[in-house]
Amino acid sequence: MPTSYRASNRGDQARSKTVSQSTNTNLSAGEARVGDILSKKGNAIFSIRPQDTIGHAVEVLRDKHIGAVVVVDATGALVGILSERDIVRKLADTPGRTLPHKVEDVMTKDVQTISPNETLVSALQIMTKGRFRHVPVTDDTGLIGMITIGDVVNHRLTALEHEALQLKQLIVG
Ligand code: AMP
Repeated sequence: MPTSYRASNRGDQARSKTVSQSTNTNLSAGEARVGDILSKKGNAIFSIRPQDTIGHAVEVLRDKHIGAVVVVDATGALVGILSERDIVRKLADTPGRTLPHKVEDVMTKDVQTISPNETLVSALQIMTKGRFRHVPVTDDTGLIGMITIGDVVNHRLTALEHEALQLKQLIVG
């Protein structure tokens, strides 16, 4: 039967998503990268050792105003991450006896990292999938920084403000 006589099927209407509907384009401002955040925020990395106590870790979190700290061994290699959430869990498990515990007994050992060349969308996907808010950044030299979900959201907000301003200027002239 010639195609023109055939009743149309649902598949005939199927079209691939337009660019404006894809998650990546909705979240990224010109494919912003993890390295863009680091170049603004700097490469400061606050770290502790596995043998340090939770007492020491909470002082670092307080003094540096951070929510998680990377754990490195004597060679500087990443061996874990300790966030305030791990400490809260330990506080509930060992009330009144938490501070003397060793960091290595409380930290997460299987740390997910990201490269500075990855997009911010990938960073958000890693954080959402893993249900955590911090990702250490590494390249072939080792640890070069840390990004948080707050950094990514702030970066996106600034980009949105910039886009809105550009639109306004286009309209007003
Ligand atoms: P957060 O939301 O970052 O405070 O962390 C929630 C939980 O995930 C804690 O148990 C952390 O030790 C763990 N965690 C945080 N960041 C990472 C990461 N990049 N890779 C693996 N685990 C992580």
